[in-house]
Amino acid sequence: VSEIDILRRLATLAGGGKGVVRGIGDDCAILRIPQGAELLIHTDMLIEDVHFRRRTHSAKAIGAKTLARGLSDVAAMGGTPRWALLSLAVPGWAEGRFLKAFYDGLLALGKQHGVALVGGDLAKSDRLSADIVILGTAPIGQALRRDTAKPGDGIYVSGALGHAAASRWREAPEPRLALGRWLRGRATACMDLSDGLSIDLHRLCWESKVSAGLDREPPRALQATPDQALHGGEDYELLFTTTKKMPKRYRGLAITRVGTIMAGSRGRVTLLGKELKAGGWDHFRKAR
Ligand SMILES: [Mg+2]
Repeated sequence: VSEIDILRRLATLAGGGKGVVRGIGDDCAILRIPQGAELLIHTDMLIEDVHFRRRTHSAKAIGAKTLARGLSDVAAMGGTPRWALLSLAVPGWAEGRFLKAFYDGLLALGKQHGVALVGGDLAKSDRLSADIVILGTAPIGQALRRDTAKPGDGIYVSGALGHAAASRWREAPEPRLALGRWLRGRATACMDLSDGLSIDLHRLCWESKVSAGLDREPPRALQATPDQALHGGEDYELLFTTTKKMPKRYRGLAITRVGTIMAGSRGRVTLLGKELKAGGWDHFRKAR
């Protein structure tokens, strides 16, 4: 299969999309941003043996995950994902069937969320890596950020945590796009949980120059240990703060209050009054 064949087939599969004046096939894509919106841009890299293993993950799941991670970041901003650019470095073993299934997984998820693939690049390599750029939009001034939490805000998480760590993720995560958009004008700050609650909450607090007190363990996914719920990454649930009263569920998805934002040491996170180290580093060091 030549690069030209792959790209031509991809252009046919990717098709057009909303706001796409010109997609794959030109020197640049031409995209039309809706009036009154600003652009959200996110880039992500997925590398074989770092982010996935081809022995344990199907090509379709890897393709879907490549896009799902970026969609989760757009969800975290309360945005609408619209377009994606994908650059792939492909080893010999991945040409043909793997690549087709990879694109199938990625494009199916894109279609589900109205995201059009509008460009990218292809190169040979000895290890598979995927570099994806996601472009989304949000109404001007309304995107959710990490640096806007205030003392007194309640801290909430969606769903149950620790699932990915407990199951070594078999399927791509479900990006919480509807919840993210609903939180616009309701949440004071928001981010997605990509690396684990302890480190991600630390990051949110650092950006907002506040500290956080968790007054309960986070809700746990089936079979997840308390440690996996606190420190396991790749759950892609939303972590947000708000002064408003939240429902117990949003469209069937659990919403749980886990603590309160406080003034004080920038980035400090406590659980039931005890310091919670980001990433559970201290704990794992002790365990070893
Ligand atoms: Mg994120």
